[in-house]
Amino acid sequence: MILPVLIMPDRRLKKRCYEVEEINEETWQLLDDLHETMQAHDGIGIAACQVGVLAQICVIQVEEEDEVLELINPRILYGTGETLDIEGCLSLPETYGTVKRFAEITVEYYDREGELMEMTASGYLARCVQHEVDHLQGILFTEKMVEAIPPEKIEEWMEEHFND
Ligand SMILES: [Zn+2]
Repeated sequence: MILPVLIMPDRRLKKRCYEVEEINEETWQLLDDLHETMQAHDGIGIAACQVGVLAQICVIQVEEEDEVLELINPRILYGTGETLDIEGCLSLPETYGTVKRFAEITVEYYDREGELMEMTASGYLARCVQHEVDHLQGILFTEKMVEAIPPEKIEEWMEEHFND
């Protein structure tokens, strides 16, 4: 089911989400709904708080051919390097800007079967995980933004920074 996405300044987006204590049918339904909602909005990631559920759950799919990554109670164990790139957010329409993130991260999380998983990610996937994990703490990317980029300037910025 496609759920309505909360838009700032909805206060639920600023709340710290609760740890999931039991993975059950409700959790699976939420994961499926998050997946559908993300795809319906052409998003690459969405956190449960963005649909008003204050649970530490998020789903990510950076490229269409990627498998949907489902993270329950994710913890970033460590990060290395630093990278600057543009981010946007389904809860902040028409808002884009650069954010400094770790270039590579190792994250621990539970999957939908309740298995404790560990994953190392780099590139835009690493960025996306950091963005979503921030959501679960009530942190929006604009709080870490280095520079706001107007939508019409995004392409220009990308060309300037990724031409080599
Ligand atoms: Zn977001």
